[in-house]
Amino acid sequence: MIKQDYFPLINQKLCKKCGLCAKLCPRKVLESGADGLPFAAHPEKCTACELCVSHCPDFAIELKSLQDNEHHGCIDK
Ligand code: SF4
Ligand code: SF4
Repeated sequence: MIKQDYFPLINQKLCKKCGLCAKLCPRKVLESGADGLPFAAHPEKCTACELCVSHCPDFAIELKSLQDNEHHGCIDK
């Protein structure tokens, strides 16, 4: 079954804006913003496959539950 209640959250302190995650996501959930930082443009399409999480060279992505978090873009921690 496809999990649809997760989305990728980008830690902008760790992200180096390489763009890899947006290119890799098979569901086109992630897009690069004008500042180069990726954000979840289509969080409802995420299948929680973890491809982006496992390939991010800076460990800047974690999956969050849509129910737990109102923010679908970036965190600054
Ligand atoms: S793969 Fe990681 S470092 Fe590269 S743009 Fe995505 S979140 Fe940022
Ligand atoms: S977990 Fe998979 S579907 Fe979700 S944003 Fe990452 S690569 Fe895309």
